[in-house]
Amino acid sequence: MKACDESLPGLINVHDPDNENTFVSLYFDGSEEHFISHREKVIHCLLTPDEAKNFLKTMETIQTYLTKNKAANYAIFASDKNNFFKALTFPMAIKNSLSVDVSPYIHQIAELADAWQAYTLVLLNSNHAKIFSFSCGEIHGEEDLSADIMNKHKKGGMSQARFQRLRKGSIDVFLTEVAEALGKITQENIILAGPGEAKKQFRDMLPIQLQKGVIAEVNVDIDDEYGLFNEAVEIMSEKGKEEHRLFLDLIQSEILKNGLAVYGIQETLTAVKNGQVETLLVEKDATQKGWICEQCQRIEDGTVSVCPGCGKDTSQVNIIEEIIKIAERTGAIVGFSQDERLQKIGPVVGLLRYK
Ligand SMILES: [Zn+2]
Repeated sequence: MKACDESLPGLINVHDPDNENTFVSLYFDGSEEHFISHREKVIHCLLTPDEAKNFLKTMETIQTYLTKNKAANYAIFASDKNNFFKALTFPMAIKNSLSVDVSPYIHQIAELADAWQAYTLVLLNSNHAKIFSFSCGEIHGEEDLSADIMNKHKKGGMSQARFQRLRKGSIDVFLTEVAEALGKITQENIILAGPGEAKKQFRDMLPIQLQKGVIAEVNVDIDDEYGLFNEAVEIMSEKGKEEHRLFLDLIQSEILKNGLAVYGIQETLTAVKNGQVETLLVEKDATQKGWICEQCQRIEDGTVSVCPGCGKDTSQVNIIEEIIKIAERTGAIVGFSQDERLQKIGPVVGLLRYK
């Protein structure tokens, strides 16, 4: 089971065809045992009889699955009526939530995907290198390369100068090999690590595209993988915050010159619906009540029980969740931030592809 962004395509377009609350979304860290039963009772009371029947059946399926698959930090999306079941595990802590809606609740996955972007670590000295590919907070790939540099030339009364020259040559050959291996894996979010000068030497000989992808250099012992992994998490977290800061700077300047930016719920919602939003930034933990009419595909904020356009019953939605879902569907990059500027101009802002 894999999570983070690769699971989003299978979830963002799923929707109950009759606009009934049939999709159960459960995020659970595995700790508070009563959490699920507690939420289950409340939700059951609030559903229509048909929805309640589907809900009970769906929860039964989920419980059966959970008895067989003991895990912590997982998410399950299921609907008995729609014959839908998807389970994901996460390598990081998630927030407990159990909800029922017309479609799966993806907000938290989008948030995790933003917080845990993929990166690659190169831990090396002059004759040994390990390349670790991380995605969604855990190792996805590992490559081990080593060179037998000293031993080839150690013996045989060679002059010191000649020995040094040969050694330098074999280090270059080795580092070139490592660079080739790295280039096959990634071109971005590269962290170089190791003791001494080898990482600098390595960086200097990388093709320009890979050099641009290097985001940090870390001094660590060649055996200290664990220390490096922890530091990499910090580096990526800082990088994410910095990107969001720069993005908000850009949004502010675009707003000032009336350029390619939208802000606020209604304006951003309209822009994502038009497919204009290239990057969306959402204030963390923001929610906003709204309604949706499936008939007219109309989504607005506020509380309206009957659609003013067609007279059909509406469903209550969290507008923020809807904006995120539409943004994901239209290929926008979605980020989450606690920057206080979002409290003034948010809770959602978007950079536009065109106007
Ligand atoms: Zn309508």
